[in-house]
Amino acid sequence: MASLSVERKRLGGGAPGCGPLIPPLSETTRPLRQQIFDRVRAAGLIARVQLAKELSISPASVTTLTSELIERGFLEEVQARRESDTVRGRPTVALGVRAAAHFVAGIKLSDREHTAVVVDFAGNLIAGEAISRQPGAMLLADIVGATETLLDRVCAKAGVPRANLSAVGLGVPGFVDCPAGVVHWSPVLTDHHVPLAAAASQRLNLPVHIDNDANLVTLAELWFGAGRRLSDFAVVTIEHGVGMGFVINHRIFRGSQGMGMELGHTKVQLDGALCRCGQRGCLEAYVADYALVREAQTALNLSHRENQSVGALLESLFDHAKAGNSAARSIFHRAGRYLALGLANVVNLFDPELIILSGERMRYDYLYAEETLDEMRAMMLNTGRPTPRIETHAWGDLLWAHGAAALALHEVSDGLLCPPREMAAQ
Ligand SMILES: [Zn+2]
Repeated sequence: MASLSVERKRLGGGAPGCGPLIPPLSETTRPLRQQIFDRVRAAGLIARVQLAKELSISPASVTTLTSELIERGFLEEVQARRESDTVRGRPTVALGVRAAAHFVAGIKLSDREHTAVVVDFAGNLIAGEAISRQPGAMLLADIVGATETLLDRVCAKAGVPRANLSAVGLGVPGFVDCPAGVVHWSPVLTDHHVPLAAAASQRLNLPVHIDNDANLVTLAELWFGAGRRLSDFAVVTIEHGVGMGFVINHRIFRGSQGMGMELGHTKVQLDGALCRCGQRGCLEAYVADYALVREAQTALNLSHRENQSVGALLESLFDHAKAGNSAARSIFHRAGRYLALGLANVVNLFDPELIILSGERMRYDYLYAEETLDEMRAMMLNTGRPTPRIETHAWGDLLWAHGAAALALHEVSDGLLCPPREMAAQ
């Protein structure tokens, strides 16, 4: 008996009982009014009776809770016609998000340009703006200054004063601890472990939420794109680095310290090529822009044009490959094989329904050729089941910023509908 109790103590870590210890208000037990708001926002317009049906709650509960949400100015009643209605059909009352209740901005800072959008509470795009910049890392004060300049420009374009924004979502490439608001490393920042969210918030006098750029593209797909109806999908971004965002059960997965899913730094070669992170053999060191450029400079003897931009060198490499240059082709082919290896690992680990390959460089079709996907399939566990769908999405300029706006919208609505003191009280 003594050994059994010791064993129990060890397994349970001292806590009584057994089974997952789920906090009272975890994702699975969100307050009903929050679930209602989320459902209305996702539907665009929805009748109360439909809400009751979809959430399996009584019409009376829906009436009470939606009245409260209308009173607080988050939802509004809209006259709508059912699709089946004839011209003479009576209009019905549907609920929609009151778009003007709040405005948020989404901003993406990158090596080549900064982009920004302003969206309303219903997620409608009000205005977008981009400013180009010189590549290279910046001081915190300078990057916060650039953020302020861009924000003021996009606000002016949107006709929404900065002070009227409810929050700002801010995305940067690199290692970002989203909940803590800290950037541990980014190619756009000179320093490490930078409290970017707090610094930007102080300068802008607004709540600021930060995340890494791959998560922002994933949020954009989850909120506005191909991932809206999917519970489990991956977005792999390939440009300057290699990033991944992953949605598990309709929520973005960030890991225990907000730093998960660094696909670009999973190792694909022991003692392999040197990566920007300082380690060797990372996937990114074989697939990202800078890896291709490094090889291109050697293979194509381009070292005499060292001052060429990364983009120009890649264009040159691509043109050579298209023209039949075997060295250029082999560079893309090799990178494609490493990408296939990385994607097969993602599939074998997470079994996603869809993998979206997203990036400016989708036109480098050697990297995303059918043979790359064949190679990926060959490395996946062979169970006879269908392979996940793979889609390539060339992003518009403002996609990342849209994802940053989704982050801000999420924070604003969750904060309003479930304030911390209420969470503590329940
Ligand atoms: Zn690395």
